[in-house]
Amino acid sequence: MSDTNGTDGTAGAGGTGGLDAALFAAWAEEIATAVRADRDRLTALDSAIGDADHGANLDRGFTAVAEALAGGRPDTPGALLSLVGNTLIRKVGGASGPLYGMAFREAGKTLGDAPEVSLADLDEALAAGLAGIRRLGSAAEGDKTMVDALAPALRALTQAVQEGQAPAEAVGAAAEAALAGAQATISMQARKGRASYLGPRSVGHEDPGAASTALIVGALHAALSRTAGAPGERSGPVPEETSRQASGSRGRTAGPSGRASEEPYRQAPEGPA
Ligand code: ADP
Ligand code: MG
Repeated sequence: MSDTNGTDGTAGAGGTGGLDAALFAAWAEEIATAVRADRDRLTALDSAIGDADHGANLDRGFTAVAEALAGGRPDTPGALLSLVGNTLIRKVGGASGPLYGMAFREAGKTLGDAPEVSLADLDEALAAGLAGIRRLGSAAEGDKTMVDALAPALRALTQAVQEGQAPAEAVGAAAEAALAGAQATISMQARKGRASYLGPRSVGHEDPGAASTALIVGALHAALSRTAGAPGERSGPVPEETSRQASGSRGRTAGPSGRASEEPYRQAPEGPA
């Protein structure tokens, strides 16, 4: 399942593979930090074409993930991603909690119980995550959702893996593709989720879920760049470029509320929202 690489207690992301639980924990922590930093931007995007809760939703979810990891880190990448997914499903309501939760769970399941995984394993796992999102939300590319950031990111990652690029470089390419995919949602009309209720009025605004997907992929790049050990390894764009993104829209009109039950994946989280 995995290439071997040093396991010296630090997060492993060496030149040839060997991605360990510490690296995946660093990813989750980077996501929590990035989401916290961009919480208001995500909420502004969601206030333009949704219900203004996306930043708060994800901040609550990834704060809970960081707390869970602080209480004890799972030993394997698969178990770690499953913990992330289960925590998001428990803590985040709306559309994005079940969808992201499903994605991390499917990715974790795909990685199994290997103590280290290769970049090709990660690519396969993230593809399973995307498939899970598509299954649950039935969104296609062009529908103006998180899929419009994740699908091109996966294509870039798969290509980079096939070209034999090092993890940080490969994920850097994926993060750039996710950012471009999120920007491309600005001109799309939403066909899924709350934004679809606006019809043509959803055009001209970046999709909040696509924006958060770009943050999530950018956070993986940041974690890998921080831990990449191989001298001379190129790490693609600097993390600040890929984990941060110019806002494509300003909060303007709030979307209609109360039509969430049409989508079966939409759930209430446990505890106060
Ligand atoms: P809610 O819309 O329930 O308030 P969030 O605001 O947390 O949930 O998340 C909204 C994001 O979820 C959207 O911007 C979009 O990217 C994503 N989304 C919504 N519905 C779907 C779907 N059916 N498939 C994929 N992604 C979706
Ligand atoms: Mg919302």
